[in-house]
Amino acid sequence: MKKKAIVILLFCGLLAAGSAQAQKIKFDRYFEDATLRLKYQRVGSQKGDTIRVVQQDRIGQWSGSLTQLLDPFNNGFFRIVVLDAQTGRRLYSRGYNSLFAEYRDTPTGADSVAAFEEVVRVPWPKVPVNICWEELGPDHRYHTQHTLYCDPVQLMDQLLKRSDISVSMEPVRLQYKGNVHKKIDVVIVPEGYGPADTAKMQKDMRSFCTFLLGQEPFASRRNDFNVWGIPLTGQETGITHPGKGLYVKSLVGASYNTFGADRYLMTMRLFQLHDAIGSTPCDHIIIMANSDTYGGGGIYNFYAMSSLNEMAYMVLPHELGHSIGGLADEYVDEDLSYGDTHSKTFEPMEPNITSLVDFGHKWQSMLPAGTPIPTPADASVPRTENGPLGVYEGAGYQSKGLYRPTPHCMMRDYGPFCPVCAKRLNEVFDLYTQ
Ligand SMILES: [Zn+2]
Repeated sequence: MKKKAIVILLFCGLLAAGSAQAQKIKFDRYFEDATLRLKYQRVGSQKGDTIRVVQQDRIGQWSGSLTQLLDPFNNGFFRIVVLDAQTGRRLYSRGYNSLFAEYRDTPTGADSVAAFEEVVRVPWPKVPVNICWEELGPDHRYHTQHTLYCDPVQLMDQLLKRSDISVSMEPVRLQYKGNVHKKIDVVIVPEGYGPADTAKMQKDMRSFCTFLLGQEPFASRRNDFNVWGIPLTGQETGITHPGKGLYVKSLVGASYNTFGADRYLMTMRLFQLHDAIGSTPCDHIIIMANSDTYGGGGIYNFYAMSSLNEMAYMVLPHELGHSIGGLADEYVDEDLSYGDTHSKTFEPMEPNITSLVDFGHKWQSMLPAGTPIPTPADASVPRTENGPLGVYEGAGYQSKGLYRPTPHCMMRDYGPFCPVCAKRLNEVFDLYTQ
């Protein structure tokens, strides 16, 4: 009797393993090793937004994983999903954020409609697919807002008739560790360099490569990264700064003072940015801004930017926390025009802050037994350390109602990445290296 039970259990185990295997999407069956790049505009305000697809391109090799096709994280206000048109099966998905998601929270974005460029890359389909743009609704669930039917044979036919396919340049290999399907391919785009600045640009790209891999957990995973540099310059030197009356004809049109925040250095010109990157293997983008003025920005699966200010070795890892890790800011700044993005009635999407609505899905299991919630602040912890893991009030720009894991973190005040942030970064790295 006992033996029979063991046999049945074993059989069930095999069945479970078999069905898990069957659920795994076989890349080669549905995709080619090439990239479909979609340029589109997101047009709207806080009252709602629509998608207008502008251009589809076939560019280079697919740089992502061949096995990790579905996004395991429920993170990002938006999500791109590729479905088999015949069966409706989900073949690929990725969450992301964009500048529009911040714009709609500014006073102007409350009812003034604006168009924002966005670009997504998905593996090139072998079969007809539906490409769906999903958006997180007020109910905190993803809803489809736009669907594009894509028959790869028809699309290829259209592309072959087009004459505007640009010839791409040869990227600089700042660090090459192997197969792009099993590495995190980071592209450094130089911004604010003129034709006479190429020697400085090469030198600065090497510095940025060092800043990218300088902090934990990046440092321990340095062999998991390929780092590419784009050897292009703009017409003029410097970075646009409207507050100083400075306007520069630069490569991708970056500017300080985004949404009225002086240090917020971003570009709205996503089409130009992705044209510069071209066919370079690209999982994540860093824009390196040729300016000594403190500033930067980073948005999840969108891009990270930092200037060359003396703090760049800290600013860049912080912004990568946003752009690669999908991490929230852990600091308080209630004056930010675009800062009120975290709902306190739901659990925020980001893994490193909590409203305590559903703390069980955050870092509760990592807390030492007996940790008080909330945890009293400990002002004696130096900024070079995280301090004890707990639930500290003050995070996500808000002084009340949102909590962070440790007194200090890279996402708060340039301390080391806290254990919660480091864990998520490692999980994201694994998504690109398996
Ligand atoms: Zn943290």
